[in-house]
Amino acid sequence: MPGIPGTEQDGSTNMAATVEFSVNMTCNNCEQKIKNVLMERGINDVKINLETQSVQVISNKSTDELKSFIESTGKVAVLVGQGGVAGGKSLGAAVAMLGKDGDYFTPGTQGVIRFNQISKTSCVIEGTIDGLSPGEHGLAVHETGDVSRGCGTLGDHFNPRNARHGSPENGETDRHAGDLGNITADHNGRASFRLVDNVLKVWDIIGRGIVVSENKDDLGLGSSLLSKINGNCGSGLACGIIARSAGIGENTKKICQCDGVTIWDERIKPLVGPGRREN
Ligand code: ZN
Repeated sequence: MPGIPGTEQDGSTNMAATVEFSVNMTCNNCEQKIKNVLMERGINDVKINLETQSVQVISNKSTDELKSFIESTGKVAVLVGQGGVAGGKSLGAAVAMLGKDGDYFTPGTQGVIRFNQISKTSCVIEGTIDGLSPGEHGLAVHETGDVSRGCGTLGDHFNPRNARHGSPENGETDRHAGDLGNITADHNGRASFRLVDNVLKVWDIIGRGIVVSENKDDLGLGSSLLSKINGNCGSGLACGIIARSAGIGENTKKICQCDGVTIWDERIKPLVGPGRREN
């Protein structure tokens, strides 16, 4: 089923972002195969460079979805950059790896959240978190990046305008800048989401923390005192520090200098231990 040219008639074009993957394309028909699987999903804006093994896609799909589409061709895709739509230029991108007490490698609730400032106003926030109880969980950017004593030392919600806690739908004076509302986990405990926020800016949050909470955020509508502070969302199940990540064309790494493992093999190998040369 071919994609419809000029698709996304629902107005979501404004939310489109550029995402760049490194894909180990070793044959000429790889290029066509990848274009075909993306076109079948209505994604027509695809730039492939066989020499640099780069695949750049402009769409409103999450990076995890795009990765699985590309990998359905049998190739391994590694995310290497994110940017806005105009020429793919990045205004700022960041990533946080979340885990219990801020440690991604602790089994339990864990996931990755990416931030991509696609225009001066709009920030795409997307990710996948596993190990949640089914249902809604609050998501918020917190003041600091201090996980020395777990998620509890990240401080309050990021609130540069001294506003009350609220919904991400509220205007910037009627919510904390860090308020991102709720994400919903399915029956397997996985929450996959992609949202666009016009208050939060990537350049304001590098080095701060992000927390997914035990309970649903009541968006400041509850009757308890905590409702106006943190949406009564309970303690943090998992958190991570927000770090700068690469824009489009900024990341040309293909081989790890530590042991010569390619970025594609690296993804399926452990970071340390058997199967990976140590030291
Ligand atoms: Zn808040």
